[in-house]
Amino acid sequence: MTAISLREIRKSYGSLQVIHGIDINIESGEFLVLVGPSGCGKSTLLRMIAGLEEISGGRLEIGGQLVNALPPSQRDIAMVFQDYALYPHMSVLENMAFGLKMRGTDEVTIQARVAQAAEILQIQQFLDRRPAQLSGGQRQRVAMGRAIVREPSAFLFDEPLSNLDAALRVEMRLEIAKLHNRMKATTVYVTHDQVEAMTLADRIVVLNAGRVEQIGPPLELYRRPASLFVARFIGSPT
Ligand code: ADP
Ligand code: MG
Repeated sequence: MTAISLREIRKSYGSLQVIHGIDINIESGEFLVLVGPSGCGKSTLLRMIAGLEEISGGRLEIGGQLVNALPPSQRDIAMVFQDYALYPHMSVLENMAFGLKMRGTDEVTIQARVAQAAEILQIQQFLDRRPAQLSGGQRQRVAMGRAIVREPSAFLFDEPLSNLDAALRVEMRLEIAKLHNRMKATTVYVTHDQVEAMTLADRIVVLNAGRVEQIGPPLELYRRPASLFVARFIGSPT
């Protein structure tokens, strides 16, 4: 079943077109990874799916519903950012609860969901701290927790691990894989890390200057890259 459908999606900033008609069907429960060079349009595409950026043309459907004009809060998705985007003046618990409070979720449900997400991410012991009192990896867990408590049907990640050191990146990559196996939520994940792409993805999309260069399972792209451009990103020796 299709969870997110992109049809002829286009984006221009003023007279500069940066996304040139993208067609992708993202399956329910799929882990889709977007890769491509800096400036190719990965964040723009993700932000359009999230509703943080206006779509210039084409149709975007989430769960079978046309959402082009829907604000982010009315889309059944949650986004995790590279810079965490936590509220510095709030505790970890308040950061995780905030979005649900804004939606008018009742306090009992909020407490239950925060407790469950904190357990999944092993941040129970940090709930009273402020973001400044946490390490980079712990902050990223809180950012993920804030997305999980919303129980969205899809998660969007924009280079979530690129601010972490190498060892922590490996740890968090395994954490994200575990999380996906547990929640089975549709995931769109942007990275420039080849190992992340190869190990996490059901399918990889290689973007080149706002167009899909190739889309397929990691091994297929590795063994049969459609172009030298794809080979460079997937790291096969051709
Ligand atoms: P990526 O995430 O792949 O590095 P982006 O989606 O951030 O790429 O950017 C794609 C293109 O759109 C780039 O040329 C970038 O300069 C341009 N761009 C991104 N955001 C804006 C904006 N708010 N205004 C104008 N141009 C933008
Ligand atoms: Mg980006």
